[in-house]
Amino acid sequence: MINLRACKSCNTVTDQPKCPRCGGEVSREWQGYLVVIDPEKSEIARKMGIRAAGRYALRVK
Ligand SMILES: [Zn+2]
Repeated sequence: MINLRACKSCNTVTDQPKCPRCGGEVSREWQGYLVVIDPEKSEIARKMGIRAAGRYALRVK
């Protein structure tokens, strides 16, 4: 996961230089890895405001 980055605005984890979901800035400094399969049923996803399935960071610096 060394090369993975996380979006500063939507927390999506990606290996791209920009966020593929919202086009936002990405950071290498992030913590926690969350895989959301069904955002409707995930309490963490709801708390974080995640509405789409995907890979997310719990915290992005
Ligand atoms: Zn994003």
